[in-house]
Amino acid sequence: EHTHQRKPDWLRIPVRGGRDLNRVKALLKSLHLNTVCVEANCPNRMECFASRTATFMVLGSVCTRNCRFCNVSPGTPEPVDAEEPVRLARAARELGLRHVVVTSVTRDDLPDGGAGHFAAVIRELRTRLPEASIEVLIPDFQGDPDALATVIEAGPEVINHNVETVPRLYSRVRPQADYRRSLELLKRAADCGRPMAVKTGLMLGLGETREEVLELFDDLRRAGCDFLTIGQYLAPSSEHYPVAEYVKPEVFDDYRKEAEKRGFRHVASAPFVRSSYKAAEALEGKAEA
Ligand code: SF4
Ligand code: SF4
Repeated sequence: EHTHQRKPDWLRIPVRGGRDLNRVKALLKSLHLNTVCVEANCPNRMECFASRTATFMVLGSVCTRNCRFCNVSPGTPEPVDAEEPVRLARAARELGLRHVVVTSVTRDDLPDGGAGHFAAVIRELRTRLPEASIEVLIPDFQGDPDALATVIEAGPEVINHNVETVPRLYSRVRPQADYRRSLELLKRAADCGRPMAVKTGLMLGLGETREEVLELFDDLRRAGCDFLTIGQYLAPSSEHYPVAEYVKPEVFDDYRKEAEKRGFRHVASAPFVRSSYKAAEALEGKAEA
């Protein structure tokens, strides 16, 4: 707990642990794999592992961008590890995952932004774990349509790209991103003609207004987005962008209703919701618990 603000009660839950978590950690370590679940101490990890979902972070742990809400280190990333897709698929099989989420740091240094690596991961997973569904949470590839096409052609069930916040706050919280470019990516994915869900996510508590959030929903639906996740922003440290507000659970409920009204197929909206939370349920069309 390094933030200066005291968190409200609904954000303080006991950390759960146990033997399963240690087993998962040991396996990931032995295969030199990173997961957002473990690395970010995600509060949902026991629940997600129990429902056989995990989020792998590929292409290293150093990012070419420096978003002010993010705990990933900025800098010069390592070279691409061509063996990573095989190891990842082995780990996913070992863990018996039924839904595999794959994300990466943003690799603006690579000619294809890492799209080829994402495609290789998808292919290895298909070969080694054909029964699992695959979700890729991708960077914007600097708007490169060929990079996006490379990922789409590998055939994931879900393409996810987070808009993170309302357009007005982009320059402050994610200066190297571009709202229109991200919307364009979602629209391209939605229009690609494949049976694939298009998903996005945002964080609340960065200083956005209700009106801005509702406008964002409209933009996302116009782009053809099907799935939406909404969670509370928590500052990783006092050096990060400060939390403007701890949004109440009932406000999250209200946003879920507003989003559903606009025709999203699945909306997860609650303080602890993260991009990959209950991802398999969204795909199977199950209602939120
Ligand atoms: Fe991992 Fe995502 Fe679940 Fe968190 S919400 S434990 S990052 S799969
Ligand atoms: Fe973090 Fe992604 Fe921004 Fe990189 S691009 S700093 S990984 S949010």
